[in-house]
Amino acid sequence: MSTVNERIERIYAEVTRRNQGELEFHQAVKEVIECLGPVLRKHPQYDEHKIIERICEPERQIIFRVPWVDDRGEVQINRGFRVQFSSVLGPYKGGFRFHPSVYLGIIKFLGFEQIFKNAVTGMPIGGAKGGSDFDPKGRSDAEVMRFCQSFMLELYRHLGEFTDVPAGDIGVGAREIGFLFGQYKRITNRYESGVITGKSPKWGGALVRKEATGYGAVFFVEQMLAARGDAIEGKTCVVSGSGNVAIYAIEKLQALGAKVVACSDSDGVIHHAKGLDLDLIKQLKEVERRRIRDYAHTHRDAQYVERGNIWDIACQVALPCATQNELDEASARKLVANGCIAVSEGANMPTTPGGIRVFEDARIAFGPGKAANAGGVATSALEMQQNASRDAWTFEYSEQRLHEIMTNIHRNCYETAEEFGSPGNYSIGANIVGFRRVADAMLAFGVI
Ligand code: NDP
Repeated sequence: MSTVNERIERIYAEVTRRNQGELEFHQAVKEVIECLGPVLRKHPQYDEHKIIERICEPERQIIFRVPWVDDRGEVQINRGFRVQFSSVLGPYKGGFRFHPSVYLGIIKFLGFEQIFKNAVTGMPIGGAKGGSDFDPKGRSDAEVMRFCQSFMLELYRHLGEFTDVPAGDIGVGAREIGFLFGQYKRITNRYESGVITGKSPKWGGALVRKEATGYGAVFFVEQMLAARGDAIEGKTCVVSGSGNVAIYAIEKLQALGAKVVACSDSDGVIHHAKGLDLDLIKQLKEVERRRIRDYAHTHRDAQYVERGNIWDIACQVALPCATQNELDEASARKLVANGCIAVSEGANMPTTPGGIRVFEDARIAFGPGKAANAGGVATSALEMQQNASRDAWTFEYSEQRLHEIMTNIHRNCYETAEEFGSPGNYSIGANIVGFRRVADAMLAFGVI
């Protein structure tokens, strides 16, 4: 009879064998299942019913050609993906990513993470992710529209408010969601608001959805600090990225009295020691779609470092809000050496396994993305709720709901980490909370 740990190792070996070359997916699976030994020992029925093995295999994967015509009349071909990972807790739910780095391994890592993150929110949503290797950067609005229309022409048949409800992610914001929803409506002849979230509040979207991931990541760090008798006010912070999540993380940090001194994009880093000018960042990034280097043209006392490492900048609180594996072991060491006491992941899997180990060894407060950035998808579920009841809540009420959800997520992760003998370890807490919710539903449904 093999031990639980040996069986977990065998499951991982089988995942890498069946999904060759999908490195990010392997990393995401490993990170979850290596926490599950104590859970399987406490609940042997999960092992008997092969719950982990089943969760690691997506329920359905769709890969398709996306042909479209650019502004010069040239035919372009991209590849589209939708990985419908788990629908045991509700309709598949998870965003679309449009970025040239997208391939099956990225979509599967994101979809796998999404299962547990969605379960951690406690809301009735399953896990999925989709996207394409299409790069919206430098494309005209008309090109983005034609791409989105072609993408939806294939995908619409797999979606529906009770089936699969996508949203945005990297490269997919309000503009893309509008084109995607418009095409879905046209093909199906249905005004099915609940089929996609992240819509503009002018036509069925929820207030606070745009802000939710960034605000939520800050509420999470606020809770982690409160658990240690500390507060965010007066802290010096660094936020990587300058997209949707980063901008609203900066907004909430500033509102709570913190000073945010740096942000970035994929070209470089802006360091403004007296505190970032958020209105300018919004104008550059949300309105004019420009690069963060242009910030230094307005603020001469700010430094722009092309290809710089944002984690070299000293701070007490760090929020990685750009992309996966952006914060490695060396950067984590630098942050700790510079006095960082808390990290909250706005992005998905931004810290490498080596980086996480450094934070754990240093016993700083570390909020993993599955918990810390779950406010985005939770508010998407609130958008679905408003769509279903043809209602629209106020900003204040929606933000209050988000705050309650993040407080509950923090408490559940904290208590579960304690229950399983790892007090203060939110990664273990989040993985176990999410896994148990999914596993119990799977047991109830039988072998499906
Ligand atoms: P955006 O496209 O709005 O912004 C992404 C930001 O990250 C941009 O500043 C981008 O710079 C930067 N970035 C992207 N790739 C890289 C890279 N390889 N190296 C350095 N910087 C990079 O995306 P979001 O803000 O929506 O998403 C950011 C992260 O948050 C992602 O990990 C996403 O999965 C996660 N997330 C998002 C949610 C949401 O609600 N939007 C919900 C939960 C998680 P550039 O413009 O140069 O590409």
